[in-house]
Formats: sequence, C-alpha cells, structure tokens
Amino acid sequence: MEERQVLVVGAGPVGLAAALALRSQGLAATVLEAGPEDRPRVGSRAIYVHRETLERLEAIHTGLGWEVAGHGLVWAVKRTCWGGREVFSRSYPRPDPSFLPPFTSLAQTETERLLADACKRAGVEMVWDTTVLGASSSEEAVVLETAEGASWSAPYAIAADGGRSAIRSSLGVAMTGSRSERSFVIVDVEEDPGDPLPLERVFHYHHPGVGGRNVLLVPFSGGWRVDLQCRRADDPSYFSGEGVGAWLARVMPSRYAGRVSWVSTYRFLQVLAGAFTDPRRRVLLVGEAAHLFAPFGARGMNSGIADAVAAAESIRRGLEAPDPGTARQAVDAFARTRLAAARYNRAAAGAALEHMQGRGPVLAVKRLAAARLALAGRRAGAWLDSAPYGPRGGSSRSGQGRY
Ligand SMILES: Cc1cc2nc3c(=O)[nH]c(=O)nc-3n(C[C@H](O)[C@H](O)[C@H](O)COP(=O)(O)OP(=O)(O)OC[C@H]3O[C@@H](n4cnc5c(N)ncnc54)[C@H](O)[C@@H]3O)c2cc1C
Repeated sequence: MEERQVLVVGAGPVGLAAALALRSQGLAATVLEAGPEDRPRVGSRAIYVHRETLERLEAIHTGLGWEVAGHGLVWAVKRTCWGGREVFSRSYPRPDPSFLPPFTSLAQTETERLLADACKRAGVEMVWDTTVLGASSSEEAVVLETAEGASWSAPYAIAADGGRSAIRSSLGVAMTGSRSERSFVIVDVEEDPGDPLPLERVFHYHHPGVGGRNVLLVPFSGGWRVDLQCRRADDPSYFSGEGVGAWLARVMPSRYAGRVSWVSTYRFLQVLAGAFTDPRRRVLLVGEAAHLFAPFGARGMNSGIADAVAAAESIRRGLEAPDPGTARQAVDAFARTRLAAARYNRAAAGAALEHMQGRGPVLAVKRLAAARLALAGRRAGAWLDSAPYGPRGGSSRSGQGRY
C-alpha cells in the first residue's frame, strides 16, 4: 500500500490546480493520472479564463496567474450581428498592465501545460499511467485501487477525474440534470500569422451565410474558436465532417477553411453530482467530476479551479482539526458551498443556452424585438450582445466569488 498525505486523481486543469492549491496550504500532493506524461490533449476546450481565476492561480503559485495571462490574449472589440447587420459593438481600452487583465483567451492545452510546469516547480508528485478504479473510505482514510493492481491510501483524496469520474461512480453518486436540445459544432482554426484577423469576439444571430444558424467567433492565442449552432433537423456530422470547410469559408475568410486544427460536436450536458463528498467526508469531488455545464459564460474550468482551491483549504482544516467532528465540518463546508456555486453556475449557463437556442415564443419575440430596437438604440443591442453568456454574477453562498 502506497501512503500519502493527499491524493489527487486526474491531471486535467482542475486536478493540477488542486495539487498546486494543496502545496500552497503547506501539504504534500500526489497526482494519479490515467494517461502517460506525454499524452496528446485534443482540442482547445476551455479558452476563456476569467480574471478571478488568474488571481486564484496567482494566489496558489506566485507568478502563475501572470504567466497564463501572458500566454493568452485579450480582445479589445466585441460585436453582435443580426441577420448579417451589426446591432452592437463595443471597444475597450488596452488593459492596465499593472493589473491582471479582465480575462485571457488561451487554449486549455496551453493552460494545462503551464499548470503542469508549475506543479513540477512546486514539488507535486506526478504518477502517470495509473487508472484509478474507485475509492473506499473509512473514518480515518481513503483507499484508491488502480487498474495496474496498486493501492494508494491517504487521509483525503480529491477526485478531479473528469465527467466520467470512476471515483464518483464507485461512491454511487449520480449526476442529474439535462442536455441541450440542439447540437453545436465547435471548431478550432489556426491563425494565419502572415495575415492575422482583427481580434474581435463576434456573435452572429441568424448568420445569412449559413442558412440563418447562429455562429460565435472567439479569438484565442494562436487561433480562433468557431461555434456553429445546428438546427433541430440538421445532421451535425455533416457540419463537423465533409461540410466543415464549406460553412467555415462563409463565416471567415476562405483561407481559414484549410486551417482546421480540431472539430467536435456537442449536445451540452447541464448536470450536477448529487453530493460533492462521500459519507465519511474523505473524498472531495471537483471540476467535471462534480458538474458539467454548457460552455457559454465559461463556467466549467473557471469554477472547477475555484472548487480545487476550496477543496485544498478544507482538507488543510480537516487535517488540523482537533477532533473528527470538526474535520467533518470542514469538508461539509466545502461540499455545501461548492454545490451552491454549481447550482448557480448551471442556472447561469442554462440561461445562456436557452437564449442561444431561442426556444419558446416569448424568448423568440423578445429577441426579435431587441434586434429591431438595437438598430436605433444601444440598450437592446447590449442585451443581445451579453445574453449568450448568461448572467455575470455568482452565488452568494459559493464561498469563492463569482464561480
Ligand atoms: C467546447 C468546450 C469549450 C469550453 N470552454 C470553456 C471555457 O472557455 N472556460 C471554461 O472555464 N471552461 C470551458 N469548458 C469546460 C472545461 O473544458 C472543463 O470544465 C475542464 O476541462 C474540466 O477539467 P477537469 O480537470 O475537471 O476534467 P478533465 O479536463 O476531463 O480532466 C480529467 C483528467 O482525469 C484523468 N482521468 C480520468 N479518469 C481517470 C481515472 N479513472 N484515473 C486517473 N485519471 C483519470 C483524465 O485523463 C484527465 O487528465 C469548455 C468545454 C468544452 C467542451
């Protein structure tokens, strides 16, 4: 049996952040990861990293927030079009370089690389090629069994093993919620360095070039994220397969049709784990092991990193607790506040998704009226511009700010 102070399962962005947060609490951290060290990570997935997250990374590993911000980019212009006509645009001044920027846009693969490098510097023990099958806990400790036949034990484990979490399943915790009605085709294209496009985030309602489907274009460091919202009757595999170049060439300069680096199709899940800890309060679920949200509003990785920081703090409190009751309370506080945050985040991402899908006659009429008004005044245009990302606030009970 391998014994450690705290085990983290999963070396995705949330597990790596959890390991750094543990180190910042003065605890030893061991990460067990199913994949090999040099595994390829596909696609850019999370690109939008909020300032709150940059501040959180800076707090758990000095310099890391600045490093992530330095590798990403900030766009200065956002625009919204309706049926090909611009209904809103706003330009921002260049962010004050003495503060962390309001956000940074960077491929998740890059963020993970920076987190992994920070883990090396912070003395995190990384154990690759190790697939955890499940967790069993007692009053004092948790034991993790692996597919390779090893057993690992620690007073606490953080489960950051993603949406298909084996740990969550082994604890018998179910995920409940819904799935988006429509499919979304998500494409990353590489920037053309010889002739780069202006750095603008653009949302198109009813883009005339693609039969009136909604399209979102977001720049990130080195590339562009393009989201196409399919119609109910569409075959998404056409838009993500043989048809991808054709529709891309209608929403971007045609040279980008040959620069696709990743394409995927989603019907987004909006689900939460029934509990964020086990009955013995030895396992803490974080990130996608605990919740999955539609990406509009960028609450997945951002809130997963907030979970990770909260988990590390409560584990430190649990280890220092004078008695088992106080130790339980520390983990209970984590589970309660992060579940409250996840409920808020799911509702916020759900509001964004509903707006995008424009379901129901009331929303459809409201959007249309706003589009007409937006041509004359800014308020309706501002609403059309911001609604695809959901409300900006956070749960007052999240314990960790906006996420
Ligand atoms: C298209 C798209 C766009 C997105 N955009 C954003 C965005 O802009 N901003 C944002 O905040 N979020 C965004 N997200 C969400 C974000 O990608 C996720 O929230 C994030 O990847 C979750 O990280 P994680 O570490 O919890 O899980 P994962 O990234 O899934 O990592 C889990 C890790 O655990 C390992 N693992 C799995 N099972 C085991 C096992 N049994 N034993 C050991 N290891 C195991 C895996 O190999 C993996 O390394 C987006 C998601 C998508 C799909």
